[in-house]
Amino acid sequence: MATQLPPQPKVGMVSLGCPKALVDSERILTRLRADGYAMSPDYAGADVVLVNTCGFLDSAKEESLAAIGEAIAENGRVIVTGCMGNEAEAIRAKFPAVLAVTGAHQYEAVVEAVHEAAPPGQGPFIDLIPQKSAELPDIKLTPRHYSYLKISEGCNHSCAFCIIPQLRGKLVSRRIDAVLREAEKLVAAGTRELLVISQDTSAYGVDTRHESRDWHGRQVRAHMTDLARELGQLRTPQGAPPWVRLHYVYPYPHVDAVIPLMAEGLLTPYLDIPFQHASPKVLKAMKRPANDAKVLERLAAWRAICPEIAVRSSFVVGFPGETEDDFAYLLDWLDEAQLDRVGAFRFEPVAGAAANDLPGAVPEAVKEERYARLMARTEAIGTAKLAAKIGRTLPVIIDEVGEPDEDGDIGATGRSQADAPEIDGNVFLRNVPKSLQSGDIVEVEIEQADAHDLFGYISDI
Ligand code: SF4
Repeated sequence: MATQLPPQPKVGMVSLGCPKALVDSERILTRLRADGYAMSPDYAGADVVLVNTCGFLDSAKEESLAAIGEAIAENGRVIVTGCMGNEAEAIRAKFPAVLAVTGAHQYEAVVEAVHEAAPPGQGPFIDLIPQKSAELPDIKLTPRHYSYLKISEGCNHSCAFCIIPQLRGKLVSRRIDAVLREAEKLVAAGTRELLVISQDTSAYGVDTRHESRDWHGRQVRAHMTDLARELGQLRTPQGAPPWVRLHYVYPYPHVDAVIPLMAEGLLTPYLDIPFQHASPKVLKAMKRPANDAKVLERLAAWRAICPEIAVRSSFVVGFPGETEDDFAYLLDWLDEAQLDRVGAFRFEPVAGAAANDLPGAVPEAVKEERYARLMARTEAIGTAKLAAKIGRTLPVIIDEVGEPDEDGDIGATGRSQADAPEIDGNVFLRNVPKSLQSGDIVEVEIEQADAHDLFGYISDI
């Protein structure tokens, strides 16, 4: 007689916020699966729903509260975790039915809360579910061909507009051997692009005095340069180097050391540096790290070493005390900096941030007007930079392959080395072969460009 296995409890997950929060969600789900839980793709099938919240801006908090409300209405058994976890009282006041509230990065607490809400299966059958092992890869919430690699948690700075250090604490770097082991496993399992993330990637290892660890018989420091060099040595099962992208880098002088690695092809020629402003007075009021670095000179030097380097950044307009002169300074600076990709935000006070007490609040209408001017200026620069790529052949990683159209032509969407997933542009390909798959890296001849994207065809088939 067949013996029925006891049903596995099922967990649903709603993951909001930045890639760092997504990595937390992946870790929580990987741990829960090892504990015998199954994942539910919908509310109805879940025994309990986890909502991983974002609390960075008031608008993100509103979105998180709406997600909690929806999960309660649709399922009723809800555990809240993530950045809004430190506002447990406010969450409980609004949603008394919430089962538990845990904070960002508190993996043990959230796993315990799930165990309480939906106890893991007991007995000989469920206990035979394989624990986390090489055969059972970690759960990923991104497509198989790219992965976020989180190298540290928290931040030692105190930027006036930011409450991340209050939410996530001081910098705690992961051991370099643990980071490299994770990267090696991801690449062996099909990752073709690693996205290195943290709150401040250039500060990696500062808290551990750049402690060295043994890695494949050699000592490697917990330092951004060593990390970059080692990641550049990894090889996919096909023998190719993965793309390795550095995000959230501050322009400290030691960043100069990674540019030659880009020129050598060990690192993707791309830097995501959130400059936030250019006016020395505003940067000082923002208390930004590395704000005294001579950034324009450094950018020119980087481009001399690695002409392919793409620089993405974000800026805040309308910070308290920002005058028209400060803003004009920023626009002039942008003209000189010639950044490839720019995101902008209108300053928004965040509960608990020091900037809220600063004098010189900028009226909303002025913020809007400056935002529009900044976007127009940076879009013109970005458009010209993309147009300059027409006629060139660029490596492109494929994200998605479409269905044949009425003429049997198949299109595909990919990204060049200058484009990170989710935040930058795409390369749209025409007439791709049926055999093309996501994660393939192909040479593409660029035929057209617009303000955000490139268009072309595969030139090496
Ligand atoms: S560097 Fe500044 S903006 Fe970034 S997390 Fe730290 S305090 Fe926040």
